[in-house]
Amino acid sequence: MSTPHTPSDLANAISELAHERKRADHLQRQMLRLQQELEVLRGAARDASNSRLLAEEELDDTRDRLQLALDAAQLALWEWNLRTGVVYLNARWSEMMGDVAMDAHTPIDDLMDRIHPDDLPHLQQQLGQATNGTLQRYEVQFRIRTLDNEWLWLESHGMVSDQDALGQPLRLIGICADIRERKRLEQATETARAQAESANRAKTEFLANVSHEVRTPLNGLMGLIRLLMDSPLDGEQGHWLKLMDESAHTLLGLLNDILDLSKIEAGKMDIETTVFDVADVVEKTCAPHLAQASGKALQFEVDLHPGLPTQVRGDPGRLRQVLANLLSNAVKFTPEGGHIRVSAAPDGDDRVRFEVADTGIGITPAQQARIFEAFTQADASTTRKFGGTGLGLAISARLVTLMGGHIELDSAPGRGSRFHFSLPMPAQHGRPTDSMPLSAPMELAEVQAQQHTFEGLRVLVAEDHPVNELLMRQLLKRLGCITTVAKNGLEAVAAWQRGGFDLIMMDVQMPELSGLDATAEIRAQEGNGPRHIPIVAVTANAMSGDQEACLRAGMDAYTSKPVSPQALMKSMAQALAAESRWVQGERPQAPSTGAVESKPTRPSKQARSQPTPALDTDKLRRRLGNDPAALADWASSVQTELAGYRQGLTQALTRQDKVQAAAQAHALKGSLASLTAQRAAALANGLEMAARSGEWPLFGRALPVLLSELDTVDKSLQSMRDTDRH
Ligand code: ADP
Repeated sequence: MSTPHTPSDLANAISELAHERKRADHLQRQMLRLQQELEVLRGAARDASNSRLLAEEELDDTRDRLQLALDAAQLALWEWNLRTGVVYLNARWSEMMGDVAMDAHTPIDDLMDRIHPDDLPHLQQQLGQATNGTLQRYEVQFRIRTLDNEWLWLESHGMVSDQDALGQPLRLIGICADIRERKRLEQATETARAQAESANRAKTEFLANVSHEVRTPLNGLMGLIRLLMDSPLDGEQGHWLKLMDESAHTLLGLLNDILDLSKIEAGKMDIETTVFDVADVVEKTCAPHLAQASGKALQFEVDLHPGLPTQVRGDPGRLRQVLANLLSNAVKFTPEGGHIRVSAAPDGDDRVRFEVADTGIGITPAQQARIFEAFTQADASTTRKFGGTGLGLAISARLVTLMGGHIELDSAPGRGSRFHFSLPMPAQHGRPTDSMPLSAPMELAEVQAQQHTFEGLRVLVAEDHPVNELLMRQLLKRLGCITTVAKNGLEAVAAWQRGGFDLIMMDVQMPELSGLDATAEIRAQEGNGPRHIPIVAVTANAMSGDQEACLRAGMDAYTSKPVSPQALMKSMAQALAAESRWVQGERPQAPSTGAVESKPTRPSKQARSQPTPALDTDKLRRRLGNDPAALADWASSVQTELAGYRQGLTQALTRQDKVQAAAQAHALKGSLASLTAQRAAALANGLEMAARSGEWPLFGRALPVLLSELDTVDKSLQSMRDTDRH
């Protein structure tokens, strides 16, 4: 600024100065603002760098934690770059493989070379799927060779960690765990299981052998007791024998239970599928328990739902066994005055629900948890008080499971028990599938229950055991059979060759030639000719498989020792039916199990060389004291009575009156039986059953057969009257 010379210059200078100051002030303010802004920016920059540092620290922490976790779990990490084919391995690998020189970056092929050849295909398949993008994650177990040339078991979990723009995997990452210890335990468990299984098999075989050894003398014992019971005895002896008989039966029951359980455990319990009437099975199973219950003043109710199908497919024998066990427990554990209820009802389309309920002593929750285990009773005092082995429920529960159901129990102490289960039992419409087309009399014979005439049958008994032979002969004698004995298989074949037999009862285990071989020999000699001697296998072998062996050898039926009269009759009827089918031209390739399971049938007329007479006239004469006048009177009244039934039955058929038809057939059956007209009585029985189930077509076909048999009966009666008059 120049020095002012004049007042006006001074004034100008002052004003200029003021202006300069203003500008200086303005600039200072601006600078201050800029400084502040800079400060703010500096602060922000400081913050940014702080948080980056923090983030880096956090990342380090996470890495540390991950590493710690991997270390703690002793996991080995790997990462495979699919482009370069190099795998990054962490330090744990060298530790696991005992290979300190192991490179942290190893080619994948070097690793693959060390995999166990058995495990390689599966590993390659998994890796292949992961690398081609079809599998996102995988898990695989394999063995890898360590530096010491040992196989190390590893479990590897891997996943795709990086993909290209097209979604093709670029990298796989995962971990491997050393599972040596787990594999060792698995191996030990497997060995223990195999050992347990083999021990169990040994136990089953042992039981089968013991059962055979025990059944043979028991068979003898029980038979002899029965024979003694039929001989003259004083009261006390009779009582002792009854006790002996009961004990023998208990022993047999126990033996059967043990065998059943071991069969189930060995997986040898076969469940059959046949067609049967479910209501009928329930009723028949209840019958003996009903008697016991009434002896104890228990109310017994059988509730069969009207919607139950008449015929179902299932295993009637096993169903009966389960129900019988539940029923005997219900009767056993329900005090006097209690109530037992058995019911069967449809459960959905193809199942039937069964229930056995009682108002007895009940079972505590703790006991319920163990009650289906073998040899378990609710409490130890039960055996002392009620007897039993604790096997019944174990067997029942397993049988129900095998049949496709599950047994359940609702119970509370003092409030009774309710056992229930539902089984697949599809309704079967029409005739049973396992039967062949039959003539009307055969059809009837199928329907009819058990009316067999074995009188006059010539039976060859092949048995080496003297007591069993005696028993068998006695039983057959009671059935009116004529017996001849062969002591071994060779004798049996020779006796058969001499001829004159209608049936052979063949013991399976015999010296010289076994029953199986003797049967095979006989069948071979018969060839496909017109003759087929019915053969019944009699054996103490009770394990499953024996039955098949007998049938394969060519036997027609099977009965196991100790032989009961019922089982004997049933098997004889089955064998005779097989013979009659043979005679009628049906020659099975090999006898099938069906031959044994099919309902017993009577031999048809043409099968027997001598048709049985319609009436046993000699017996009738004896009964009526050989008085001709009384006989004539009686015969004429019977003829009238029979004529009445003929009319009644024909009428019932026309009207399709179930009640009348069943009542008439039932009454007629009784009259015919007392008349010794066995064949006609069997036919009437068949008619009664057909009437009860409303099978009118069958009834219609069978009635003429019965009427023609009644004609024969009528003729015999007439000839008795005529002969006796002269
Ligand atoms: P056991 O041959 O001893 O009767 P189970 O297996 O049939 O064998 O029954 C085992 C136990 O379960 C019985 O001993 C009894 O304690 C108990 N139990 C079974 N059924 C009933 C029932 N209906 N009421 C009360 N307790 C029962």
